[in-house]
Amino acid sequence: MIEYALYFHIPFCAHRCAYCDFTTYAGQDSLIPAYVDALCREIELVGGSLTEKAHAKTIFFGGGTPSLMSVPQFNSIFETIRENFQINPNAEISLEANPGTLKPDYFEGLHRLGFNRISFGVQSAHPDELKMLERIHSYADVVAANLAARKAGFDNLSFDLIFGLPGQSLDYWQATLKLIVSLYPEHLSLYALTIEEGTLFGRWAERGMLPLPDPDLAAEMYEWASEFLVEKGFYQYEISNWAKIDDGRLTVDREKPSTVYRPPSFMCKHNLQYWRNLPYLGFGVGAHGYANGMRYSNLLGIQPYIERLSRAEDAEFPLSPTSISEEEISSFQAMQETMMLGLRLTQEGVSAQAFQTRFGRSMQDVFGAEIDELVALGLLEWVNKKTPEALKTSDILRLTPRARLLGNQVFRRFVGE
Ligand code: SF4
Repeated sequence: MIEYALYFHIPFCAHRCAYCDFTTYAGQDSLIPAYVDALCREIELVGGSLTEKAHAKTIFFGGGTPSLMSVPQFNSIFETIRENFQINPNAEISLEANPGTLKPDYFEGLHRLGFNRISFGVQSAHPDELKMLERIHSYADVVAANLAARKAGFDNLSFDLIFGLPGQSLDYWQATLKLIVSLYPEHLSLYALTIEEGTLFGRWAERGMLPLPDPDLAAEMYEWASEFLVEKGFYQYEISNWAKIDDGRLTVDREKPSTVYRPPSFMCKHNLQYWRNLPYLGFGVGAHGYANGMRYSNLLGIQPYIERLSRAEDAEFPLSPTSISEEEISSFQAMQETMMLGLRLTQEGVSAQAFQTRFGRSMQDVFGAEIDELVALGLLEWVNKKTPEALKTSDILRLTPRARLLGNQVFRRFVGE
């Protein structure tokens, strides 16, 4: 049975932050009701294009700022998902939330609907950094949102932070991380700032008005955070992601490579689906999907999306009537992508046995030269342990700790760049 991750893109924000290059639009909130109707239509057409309901193992509302939508609007979307997909009873159902947009009773409504995970876009605890990023929230909003979510019954909260900000000192970064850890999150995502063209930061940087982040200092921040979070009981499972160890059974396996792999349950199951190169369906403006050996993406622009769906009568799974690009993924491309994505998983890596089972060829046979070179350079390592995919002990290829900061150099070798 194929199980899908479902992603819903909500492209509305109260204000565009200075560093943001996501598909999102500020000042278009009046289109939210029509967007919800269009999203429901897209779900009906894509889900209904199969003879049997497809199984959904995770549901993720990302953006943009999904928390700008009301509980009744989410309710309409959930009803449509339930009519057209079989949602697993233990499905992870996540919402990305901006702490500056939230009221306490909102969380109760979300929890009643079935949401069981919230990911807060926090970025920093310092007022001056939040101001520079043009975020609309304060650290006090984060504390209040955390408390309200806990009171409503949420026991799986994640916080996104950014390090390597212009002018940020190590002390400032350490203070942010300590404050956030004091809120007892189950999950943390830590991203290094990248300055993207077309953003306000990008324009400031071009004119020399933004002190660019120092890469050495950013590396020091990352390394400090990795050590600090291990001390605080977190498990790093992906280059930028840490989950709280919740079962007390996990043994860090670096010294004992054959230790049984028992990952904590707070790892983000939705994102694991991407990193394991497994199928997902994307709904909404600019959303991407990967299913039936095909990658596709939806058109940009809220109004064109609404208009296209108001006229659409059918869909051909997995494509949406709003898909504007589609690409059949060859077996070799799927192997390349499995390496590139799986090696982001710092513990799980890519299992030799799972690769052989999926593609009918060994990893060494396809990528032997690249693997041997990267192992010789000390960027990849072989370990032997059990994984969720290979129930027997299997050889696992993964990044060495020092390569976590050099991931892109490793991934490029597998996609021929
Ligand atoms: S809230 Fe998030 S998606 Fe919206 S503009 Fe800011 S960074 Fe971008």
